[in-house]
Amino acid sequence: MNRPDAGTNTGTDPSQRAAELRRLLNRAAHAYYVLDAPLMEDPVYDQLYRELLELEQRHPELRSPDSPTQRVGGAPAEGFESVRHRIGLLSLDNAFNTDELEAWYARLLKVLDREPGTALPMVGELKIDGNALALSYEHGVLVRAATRGDGEQGEEITANVRTIGAVPLRLQIDPAPAWVEVRGEAFIPDATFAAINAEREERGEALFANPRNACAGTLRQLDPAVVARRRLDFFAYTLHLPDGAAPPSQWEALQWLRQAGFKVNPNAELLPDLGAVERFFQQWDGGRRQLPYATDGVVVKLNALSLQDAAGFTQKAPRWAIALKYPAEEAPSRLLRLTCQVGRTGVVTPVAEFEPVALAGTSVSRATLHNADRLAELDLHGGDTVVVRKAGEIIPEVVRVLAELRPAGAQRLELPHTCPECGSELVREEGEAATRCVNSSCPAILRGALRHWVSKGALDVDGLGSKLIEQLVDRGLVGSIADLYRLDGAVLASLERMGSRSADNLVAALQASKGQPWHRQLYGLGIHHVGEVNAKALAAAFPSAADLATAALESPDLVTAVFGIGAEIAQSLQQWFATPANQQLLSALERLGFSLALSPEALAAQAQLGQAGGGPLSGQTFVLTGTLPSLSRSQAQALIEAAGGKVSGSVSKKTDYVVAGAEAGSKLSKAEALGVAVLDEQGLRRLLEAAAA
Ligand code: NAD
Repeated sequence: MNRPDAGTNTGTDPSQRAAELRRLLNRAAHAYYVLDAPLMEDPVYDQLYRELLELEQRHPELRSPDSPTQRVGGAPAEGFESVRHRIGLLSLDNAFNTDELEAWYARLLKVLDREPGTALPMVGELKIDGNALALSYEHGVLVRAATRGDGEQGEEITANVRTIGAVPLRLQIDPAPAWVEVRGEAFIPDATFAAINAEREERGEALFANPRNACAGTLRQLDPAVVARRRLDFFAYTLHLPDGAAPPSQWEALQWLRQAGFKVNPNAELLPDLGAVERFFQQWDGGRRQLPYATDGVVVKLNALSLQDAAGFTQKAPRWAIALKYPAEEAPSRLLRLTCQVGRTGVVTPVAEFEPVALAGTSVSRATLHNADRLAELDLHGGDTVVVRKAGEIIPEVVRVLAELRPAGAQRLELPHTCPECGSELVREEGEAATRCVNSSCPAILRGALRHWVSKGALDVDGLGSKLIEQLVDRGLVGSIADLYRLDGAVLASLERMGSRSADNLVAALQASKGQPWHRQLYGLGIHHVGEVNAKALAAAFPSAADLATAALESPDLVTAVFGIGAEIAQSLQQWFATPANQQLLSALERLGFSLALSPEALAAQAQLGQAGGGPLSGQTFVLTGTLPSLSRSQAQALIEAAGGKVSGSVSKKTDYVVAGAEAGSKLSKAEALGVAVLDEQGLRRLLEAAAA
């Protein structure tokens, strides 16, 4: 398919990109750690951070002391006393997939001088998405609580932490060690978070972006009474004791913490090898949604303290632990180009094509931008870095643009003025969101119409895929739906990837498709708003294309009398049937052997269904006589039957209504004699409308 470029990736030089990333990430880190008001989604930050890290690894000369890759967290905020931690609080290295987990493990074995593949017991814990706290106990009593800060110094927030019920003020250990340092995660459960934001909304205050930010903001409250009201929670996960007193493993440290009175997350597991770690991760990737608090991955730690000591630390994080993050649902990517798709109704949809990114476990490289308004709202420029989102089964979308990373001189992207397929001027009607190509012979519209005609719910023709349709249109072999039925086996066989056998099969499948029921043919015509359900309802009420055309063109109220059909659909039908090309198509199809009508069997079955009851007029018998002003006999009959009524040929005492038109004869007099209700066409319509209401 012809895909014109509306903007190309301008490419950036590495030192410029590194500088831009550093600037943006530093700003984001300040907003996140100090202001508690994040500028971007965490996975977007993580991905940009990763990009910077890789750039610095490839070009070490670009590394600078102000790079966020060289620091832990953010500087302590003003308004709190800053305290130096007895033992530094580091960050964790991240793995974003199991390959990275395996690479981490292989490196670890190397550092520990173990054979590749050696199984070392590990502890798997949930990575609670909150804020790290350093708690200092002396002789069993909580004397100080601090945030992580930059890892060496944090903010002293003891009064606030004292309000957290899950933090023991005195350890249940007797005799208590001279000092104990405990690290863990303060967090706000989802339900509490929702309540806090609801309250803030009511008071007209700014909402917290997520529970983690709400927690960070709360911990930094100057008034402990506010903290107490916010009901923070806490899970402990790291224990430091004076030399020689520490339990020999992480697993035992967790038991120690539990016994001392801390809340320890119950989902930690002792995992014998890497396979068990991967199972643990998979289990929680699915299971996390049932948890009442947010987690953003699992943390894997070597169990034996002696091995942890042997592995040691990098500048920022322990070598013996790794955070394995859940697949991101949002990620940044670089726009490669903007393309446009022309659909079968002529609607032009802008599509962003970007560098492939892994989202919710799949690789994504394009996303629809819906229409010109959305494109303008995004303010997309060539070479932009965009934030793309895909959660689970949801279709990928471009959420926003990171304008800070825009290359200098980038051009704003807009929809083209002419159709990328046929070059004709595009049209946007007043008040409409869609921009359209209105050239009915535009090859894109034709291709779409053909694809729709042969699709499963329509004529269901096997062996006529998109590629073949493209060839047929591009070579001018097919200019309308009807042309498909004039294709010659020999011509088909000469096309790419077609042999004489598949060509013969296709010709046979096309011929067989003429026997598809009327409602499928109607759906296949691709009339705007006429989906499968509406096509069924319309085909039941109007037993042939001729009936439907007459009603659509002359009495739209008959069309809207059909259950589920509104004025918009009636108008679309009217426009469709009024278009000469469409009338020609119907005639051509009829000449080719399509009935474009209910089969006699379907008519009989429908009548029987009417007798068996089901519709609002079920059990009522009608007799038609004379000529009605606008309805043919078969139209009137179809409408009555679609509503469940029965049409009979003769009047008796059992007849409920006689519908009489001009020149009605003996049936009318008999009805009058028997006292049967007589309706004219208007009366019938009112009855049908009342029944449909
Ligand atoms: P991290 O959050 O990836 O990992 C380290 C932290 O995990 C620890 O400090 C601890 O608080 C926590 N943790 C939770 N459960 C744990 C457990 N069981 N054992 C050990 N630790 C556990 O790294 P980080 O250094 O805190 O900062 C990076 C994080 O901050 C990333 O998630 C990043 O996306 C986010 N961030 C976001 C922005 C933004 O603009 N959105 C800016 C800066 C940082």
